[in-house]
Amino acid sequence: MTEEYAVLYVVPTPLGNLADLTHRAEEILRAVPWIAAEDTRHSGPLLKQLGVRARTIPAHRHNEHEAAARIVERLRAGEAVALLSDAGTPGISDPGARVVAAVRAAGCKIVPLPGPCAAITALSASGLVDEHFLFYGFLPSKGGQRRQALEALRDQACALVFYEAPHRVLETVADMASVFGERTLVVARELTKLFESIHALPLSSALAWLQEDANRQRGEFVLILSGAPAEAECGDGERVLKLLLGEGLPVKQAAKLASQITGMAKNALYERALALKS
Ligand code: SAM
Repeated sequence: MTEEYAVLYVVPTPLGNLADLTHRAEEILRAVPWIAAEDTRHSGPLLKQLGVRARTIPAHRHNEHEAAARIVERLRAGEAVALLSDAGTPGISDPGARVVAAVRAAGCKIVPLPGPCAAITALSASGLVDEHFLFYGFLPSKGGQRRQALEALRDQACALVFYEAPHRVLETVADMASVFGERTLVVARELTKLFESIHALPLSSALAWLQEDANRQRGEFVLILSGAPAEAECGDGERVLKLLLGEGLPVKQAAKLASQITGMAKNALYERALALKS
């Protein structure tokens, strides 16, 4: 048995497929006397299926301070607590971070369990080869603020990972296309569920692709954008591109010629040429 006393366990739960609960998570949930859960109606079926009889402490977005105080009290009494969110890893675009901060500040032990997280699950199958990624989570829901947030990310030379709700996916993808020009977009939908789909396509055609079929707009989304081509990567290519575009060549032809001249990848040069043009 791996359970210790007076420990806060941070326990990721499945994104949709209950079989994704890890063996260790299952053991901890069965062993702890207390479970701090975002919504007991949501976690209830999972806990019931496991035969978990722990008492629960509500720990949602609007009571994290109070929840943390109750959790610290239990830990100081020598009892273990497992922290859960509705799905995936607590604290990742979910409540939990403030509870963990308070427990840490109180000097109590925290043990994180690895497990499901939509961002990492989507990235692992994205096919993007960016060396680095930036996890952004949810963009602002208001158009102006969203575009501003996207503008601030435009020059990041790493893959950008977003969470999005189905009722905002079209406007978000439209804003991405207007801010970033050409990139690769990976639309990862309903991960680990019956209608899971992971589709990579040029950002410029993504809105039309989503609109083609209403089903493509349903469910839960992770959107991943390939990063801006790095300056170093584009050094020579960028100089040649600027010359060719300056001579009035169309983007496609400029990218093709720049690729022949510098030996650099045509796709990367095409994306850079679009960015320079806009
Ligand atoms: N804590 C979670 C995690 O570790 O991924 C994220 C919780 S956040 C409140 C919910 C968002 O995560 C959804 O709106 C969606 O963007 C993403 N998400 C969660 N489950 C997903 C799934 N099965 N497929 C695709 N995206 C998912």
